[in-house]
Amino acid sequence: MNYRRLGSAGIKVSELSLGSWVTYGPQVDIDAAAQMLKTAYDHGVNFFDNAETYAAGVSEEIMGAALRKLGLRRASYLVSTKLYWGLNDGPNEKNTLNRKYLMQGIDGSLKRLGLDFVDLLFCHRPDPNTPMEEVVWAMSDIVSSGKALYWGTSEWSAEEIRQAWEIADRRNLRKPQMEQPQYSLLARDKVEYDYQRLYTDIGLGLTTWSPLASGVLSGKYAKGIPEGSRLALPGFEWLQQRYSRDVLHAAAAIEPIARELGGTSAQLAIAWCVANPNVSTVITGASRLSQLEENLGALDMVPKLTQEVLERIDKAMEPARQAMKQ
Ligand code: NDP
Repeated sequence: MNYRRLGSAGIKVSELSLGSWVTYGPQVDIDAAAQMLKTAYDHGVNFFDNAETYAAGVSEEIMGAALRKLGLRRASYLVSTKLYWGLNDGPNEKNTLNRKYLMQGIDGSLKRLGLDFVDLLFCHRPDPNTPMEEVVWAMSDIVSSGKALYWGTSEWSAEEIRQAWEIADRRNLRKPQMEQPQYSLLARDKVEYDYQRLYTDIGLGLTTWSPLASGVLSGKYAKGIPEGSRLALPGFEWLQQRYSRDVLHAAAAIEPIARELGGTSAQLAIAWCVANPNVSTVITGASRLSQLEENLGALDMVPKLTQEVLERIDKAMEPARQAMKQ
């Protein structure tokens, strides 16, 4: 496993990390989580991603219980959570980054995780209804309190990130250090274009999500939707809208390249994300151990991604990218 600095920060994250969205709760219980966390950790993974909203708080409880069960040394791994959507209805508790919500939200997350602090705390989405200054001040205060070590954003625009950073700079507050954007062969714009100046201007780090586009880039949906897979899960019908039959079919086009390189489509798709030097860590997801083991093997494929191979991948994926636009 290689480790990369989180942008300009001193902290280092493993090139591959592991998250709990969709899986913890509906698909993965405490024992299975512990088994996968341990396998990832033994392969050098040092960052585990979570959010308040995942399975309405249950995901944090499962990760916390699994980490306690494993008894791993706290200094040897990083845990994140994210705040925005909230767990309760009410004008100040939902879809917001107001100060009261953030201050109480972090306490709720720490309680569910059973931790004294999270390493990374994200504003899960931007909130146009709270002044940016209020958000920055609250996140900075949380970091100063020791309840989080670094703060960042998820799916913010480049302009919003820069605005937050400049407020923090002017006011001598803790600056946002990392962004968590979607990044895969089917979602490239933010990472490759929108944020381009931020890597050097403010030292932005990236913890990217959905490297397989929810499993689509594994190629397993090319001939239909397998039972028990994410696209078949109750509550995730919206994913079938995002990935049409044309996309599911076209996404399988990387399979011959992966085979030629001695790996699988999933490994190739994950390795492709790792190959971008602006990415600090690629957050993977797995509903079972065999997937995690396969995905960890992506690292062997990274050195094989020569310029020529990258160009072939680009060409092979063009129809899928076009299908995404329809
Ligand atoms: P992926 O795109 O890699 O999808 C993971 C899912 O794909 C698995 O749960 C599994 O689903 C399937 N899968 C994984 N490996 C394989 C394989 N080798 N072969 C076949 N199918 C496979 O990542 P996620 O969408 O899960 O995102 C990763 C993490 O990123 C999340 O856990 C979360 O921590 C973070 N995230 C952050 C977001 C944000 O807004 N900040 C949004 C979304 C995710 P199944 O078996 O059920 O089909």
